[in-house]
Amino acid sequence: MKIILERDIELCVDCVHFIANGDAPEDKPGFVERVRTLWDTSDANEPPGSHWELVVGSGEGGFSSHMCDGCNSSLGGDRYPGKALLYGPEETNASK
Ligand SMILES: [Zn+2]
Repeated sequence: MKIILERDIELCVDCVHFIANGDAPEDKPGFVERVRTLWDTSDANEPPGSHWELVVGSGEGGFSSHMCDGCNSSLGGDRYPGKALLYGPEETNASK
């Protein structure tokens, strides 16, 4: 599979933990569902069979009052750089 789209995103600390360790914040019910829904590819904005993968980047975070790109949290707080990678559907033919 290959990456067909790459976006720079900013992640809140909850998203960083979730992406890095799979830990969902206990004090935010519905967090995992919200992230899954946000990055779902079945809404026809992305080609069928593709999927998003979020990765935590390197580098310093900083305070931001903007929405978190990962979970849509509107709470201000530290943001860390990350990337959203859209993987294309499995290629079914070998012709290139
Ligand atoms: Zn977040």
